[in-house]
Amino acid sequence: MKQNIREFLMQKALILFRSEDIDVSAREFMSTYASYMQEVGIVGKEPNGHVVFPSKTAPVEEGYAEFFDEWVTLSEALEIHTAVSMDLYTDAWFARDPKYQTMTASGQLMPHQICPNREEFWEYGAEIVKELGAYPIDEILLFGVGFIRDEFCFCDRCRKEFAPLVDQEPARLTHAYLTENPDYHDKWHEWRTEKVLQGLRVLQSAADSLIGAE
Ligand SMILES: [Zn+2]
Repeated sequence: MKQNIREFLMQKALILFRSEDIDVSAREFMSTYASYMQEVGIVGKEPNGHVVFPSKTAPVEEGYAEFFDEWVTLSEALEIHTAVSMDLYTDAWFARDPKYQTMTASGQLMPHQICPNREEFWEYGAEIVKELGAYPIDEILLFGVGFIRDEFCFCDRCRKEFAPLVDQEPARLTHAYLTENPDYHDKWHEWRTEKVLQGLRVLQSAADSLIGAE
């Protein structure tokens, strides 16, 4: 395993580590591999919605706070470009409230997946970005920032907002209604893209506010 990590690092790929997969201290890991690393990533927020650092916003995966702190502190001291990843809309903890879950046209809820059209969730993500910004990191990598498939999202909120744009009643909106009409299908894509960008802008401005504050 040791040999493999070194080879990956020497290919200069950004490797994303999970704290739980590293069975030595951050200090020991860094002292073994730092000379092979120009950049390195660590998972900050997992798909289960938990974060690995102390947070007033998100639930905390216990037992990793010290590791995380030591990891980012050493990595900065060693001048290694440090990225922290965040799963965004895959968040089983936030999605425990079904009203935030994304939905298929037939009404099936996705229990671990948030509808990307929720301002409250954008604000929640922005708070986590701000918390991460207190650490000496160079980059936040976001995963799962979009709608999961073309058939999403048909939750009440998305239906209500989108249906009038294609002259339909919210309750009667189906995926077939969109795919049968190329103009409507294009509108669907444009509307969803705009939602995704709106969400990202909220996170981006949280990150910008930290850079400004330095
Ligand atoms: Zn929705």
